[in-house]
Amino acid sequence: MSAPRSAIEIVTIGDELLLGFTVDTNAAHLARELGDDGFRIARRTTCGDDAAQIADAVRDAFERTGAVITTGGLGPTSDDNTKSSIAAIFGRRMRLDENIWARLQQMWKARGWPGEIPESNKLQAMIPEGAKILENRHGSAPGIWLEDEHSRWVAMLPGVPRAIRGMRADTLRPRLRAWRGSAAVTVVRSRTVRTTGVSESALHDKMAEMRRRVHGLPLAFLPGWEGTDLRVTSRGLGDAEADATLERAVADIRARVGDAVYAEGADDMADTVLQAMRARGWRAAVAESCTGGMLGMRLTAIPGSSDAFVGGVIAYSNDVKVRDLGVNASDIDAHGAVSETVVLQMASGVRGRTGAEVGLAITGVAGPGGGTEEKPVGTVWMAIDTPLGARAVMSRLIGDRDEIRRRATQGVLNLLRKALSA
Ligand code: AMP
Ligand code: MG
Repeated sequence: MSAPRSAIEIVTIGDELLLGFTVDTNAAHLARELGDDGFRIARRTTCGDDAAQIADAVRDAFERTGAVITTGGLGPTSDDNTKSSIAAIFGRRMRLDENIWARLQQMWKARGWPGEIPESNKLQAMIPEGAKILENRHGSAPGIWLEDEHSRWVAMLPGVPRAIRGMRADTLRPRLRAWRGSAAVTVVRSRTVRTTGVSESALHDKMAEMRRRVHGLPLAFLPGWEGTDLRVTSRGLGDAEADATLERAVADIRARVGDAVYAEGADDMADTVLQAMRARGWRAAVAESCTGGMLGMRLTAIPGSSDAFVGGVIAYSNDVKVRDLGVNASDIDAHGAVSETVVLQMASGVRGRTGAEVGLAITGVAGPGGGTEEKPVGTVWMAIDTPLGARAVMSRLIGDRDEIRRRATQGVLNLLRKALSA
């Protein structure tokens, strides 16, 4: 075994993955996290639940690379064939692990499920001879580590994505580091700067001569409904050097792009806005027409939002706009529900009626029907009403119904973010 111990293959198992009904997020997550830790993903394979398919896929990966992580097929049903198929590759028999079985019985009781645990759960307590248990604090099925006399191994993890995320960090990482030993490693690591309210081409111009590489790191422009993310990726550098170079690159991107930057990494704009509200001791309320609660959902998705968000009104019909927000019926008649006048009244209405310091409002044509020449699908009015004053803007948003609604929530949050940072 002279090859450096860093190459790993991933085999994800499940008919639902093969057929495309479930998106394979496990392989993506593992590849990203392992790359960050200095391992190289040599190949990713997906196979169905059939025992022969699993054996084929895993044997190939095992013979090629000798370091394989599988996910899925560890459950208690007859389509869960992972352990026995892989045990056969190692020539190991299956045995009942009394500790796992006892733990499964305990869990059954602790969850308050009726009667005795079904016998079929015993399948989850069957493990190959000589296997090590990979503790799973994030679900019922433990993972399994099988290793041969040449330090070649297969790590079997359950399929549930939440368990994968937890186990990768707390169970798998120390084992993989021990396997790799102390050889110097290079990592694949990236940082993402999130921008919104500025076109991709304008960003391109702002980055000027750095639009392809920033401090030698390739730069990717990733547009989506939230805006355009700018991602720099370091490959081939050691841990500390990668971090230092990424830090310089991010500082440069921030300096060039300026106040279109609202967050870093995977952070949501709602989080940025709530922090700015909290800093002023203000609370927000929302009045939503075409977004039907999506804005409130985004704000309440952030843990601890209750100190800066009070609630709001889903004012989908004109009646509710008039009755619960105090919008003038005559203004709706004169200007339409999708208009500057109405959106401003929605924002001030929800602010006044909830006693919040800030009101946010959205009214628009999300489509696919309902567009007119004057107000085509995608026409959205957004407003904020704050102690600093009221402001409304109209956008012509692109995309399907879902995307237009999402973009509208992002637009109004950005309006507030800019007002708060001015
Ligand atoms: P399993 O352990 O194969 O019974 O899978 C448990 C659950 O996790 C099922 O709902 C699967 O659809 C889901 N799942 C399994 N593998 C993956 C994967 N690679 N990516 C995302 N979800 C998965
Ligand atoms: Mg499965």
